[in-house]
Amino acid sequence: MDHPEIIHHGAREGVTGSCHQVWMDQTASLLIDCGAFQGEDEDQGGEGLALDFAIDGVKALIVTHVHLDHVGRIPHLLAAGFEGPILCSEPSAQLLPIVLEDAFRLGISDDPEQLERYLKVVEQRTIALPYGNWFTLHETEAAHCKVRLQPAGHVLGSAYVELDMQRPGATAQRVVFSGDLGAP
Ligand SMILES: [Zn+2]
Repeated sequence: MDHPEIIHHGAREGVTGSCHQVWMDQTASLLIDCGAFQGEDEDQGGEGLALDFAIDGVKALIVTHVHLDHVGRIPHLLAAGFEGPILCSEPSAQLLPIVLEDAFRLGISDDPEQLERYLKVVEQRTIALPYGNWFTLHETEAAHCKVRLQPAGHVLGSAYVELDMQRPGATAQRVVFSGDLGAP
């Protein structure tokens, strides 16, 4: 397999449901965004909010920004057993629980105790990454991968994602995910 392999699980035929899986080596991957399908995409896809792919080997989730078409399926990712960290910018880390409270109420349960437990899990898993700083995601004999967030000018906390990937004996590669972009 040529690395990095990338699979688009959403925002493929429409513009919502942003969710992209990037393999760092044969078994370890990460997700960029885990968004909900909205409007026409929701009707056409009929995929709803449940994940339609296996999450074995998904080591981390990177969130570009907190609009629901980029984060709305996080409750379902956690329900599917995802145990990795959620990386995002510092403002996004503060906004994420507020936005996900709505998504959780609408999509899973409005039981206050369950909601509180769930939001605590989200807060514990969240890693707030300052813009411009590299963070090592994956460091094994098979591959190294680090991530850096840069301001995307779309909404408060929005970021585009740079991944630096290196395998022994191979040329280093940088993969960039724009997310949604706006004026700086
Ligand atoms: Zn957006």
